[in-house]
Amino acid sequence: MLPELITKIIRRCLAGPDQDFSFRAAQDVDPGPVQKTGLYIHIPFCKNLCPYCPYNKIGYEEKLVEPYLNALLAEVELYYQRIGRAEISSIYIGGGTPTNLTDELGIVLNRIRERFRLTGDICVETSPGDLDRERVGKLLQYGVSLLSLGGQSFDNRYLKLLGRNYTAAVLEHSIELALNAGFKSVNLDLMFALPGQTTAEVERDLARAVCSGVDQVTTYPLFSFPYTTVGRYRKLKKVKMPNLATRRKMYRAIHSFFLEHGFQRVSVWGFLRGEAPRYSSVTRERYIGLGAGAGSHVPGVFYLNTFSVEEYIKSCRSGRLPVALSMNFTEMMTLYYWLYWRLYDTYIPKQQLFELFGEGNRKLKLLLRLLYGFKMAVDEGEQIALNERGAFWLHLMQNYFALPYINKVWSAARETAYPERVKL
Ligand code: SF4
Repeated sequence: MLPELITKIIRRCLAGPDQDFSFRAAQDVDPGPVQKTGLYIHIPFCKNLCPYCPYNKIGYEEKLVEPYLNALLAEVELYYQRIGRAEISSIYIGGGTPTNLTDELGIVLNRIRERFRLTGDICVETSPGDLDRERVGKLLQYGVSLLSLGGQSFDNRYLKLLGRNYTAAVLEHSIELALNAGFKSVNLDLMFALPGQTTAEVERDLARAVCSGVDQVTTYPLFSFPYTTVGRYRKLKKVKMPNLATRRKMYRAIHSFFLEHGFQRVSVWGFLRGEAPRYSSVTRERYIGLGAGAGSHVPGVFYLNTFSVEEYIKSCRSGRLPVALSMNFTEMMTLYYWLYWRLYDTYIPKQQLFELFGEGNRKLKLLLRLLYGFKMAVDEGEQIALNERGAFWLHLMQNYFALPYINKVWSAARETAYPERVKL
């Protein structure tokens, strides 16, 4: 109750009284004139359904592959009719497990190249058990340049506990395959704060990640996900979210570990080494989402496609954008949305910040004063950089405030293909 009340006060204070924090039923949206945008493609099929997973996914079914591919192609056409030959500054393909539909991705990417002007990188997520030499070759052939492996842990006990369908040896082999293939950047996702896991065990995983040679490691605490589901699944009655002190200790350990090993922090949870391009799934400002459950952010509106794969296919087949829910953004809200993701990046470019908000903006001044006053950020000249403390508290705020919102919308959207309204 208290976090909810605090969020309501903060968000009204920042975004103003005109911002309605409700997602409403929407059968269609007008993306407006779009000259440049990112694209997100959602592939919801998984061969292994992990018990903790909150994403929109279903079990892989051969019979759904072709209809889903056709729906994606139809959705590309629907956007082409609306926005014309816009520039696509990046493509991010997530899921589910996108590589379950590797050949189909090639077809969709070709169609995107025919219809739009692709100028940026293509990133794909995959699961270690799903990667082989043939798939890697195809991804490169289709122009994929950044690959992310959802490894989660190098410890077989924890892989088993998480319900992952591969071993540490398979994970190591898939990293080797990816690195030898010549992608511009290979990211490895690792989870921590697993039930019963110690900080020493987390550090052992980090060490193996560093030794493996990957360019980037993105760490996620399991407590960002429905923690108790894992407990129920493993019949661990006493499974509890780690307390604040444990989280603090783990984050500090992760942060120091990477900096000591020559990595730089590129987001709250992401650490990159060398000159490889940064891999990020969430920090794009404007993007259009294709696929069941995909989200889009275009000027003035954030919207979500229906989460139901069946309804998604039906809608695209009938020539309608498969939009289910939308929330209009006021100008102020758009600014804070931008700021939220810059904070998540942990670096805020000052010139852009002051251009957007205006240097004399009182709320912004107060926010910066708080960041500096609580020693969470430092002024680095051209940018404001969150330090380790700032990054930790941002993650905590995200955990308490943003994730419950996401959970609310996703739960409603999974229950009903076209919900009437979701009030945040
Ligand atoms: S493979 Fe990834 S998307 Fe699929 S169920 Fe597991 S965690 Fe979720």
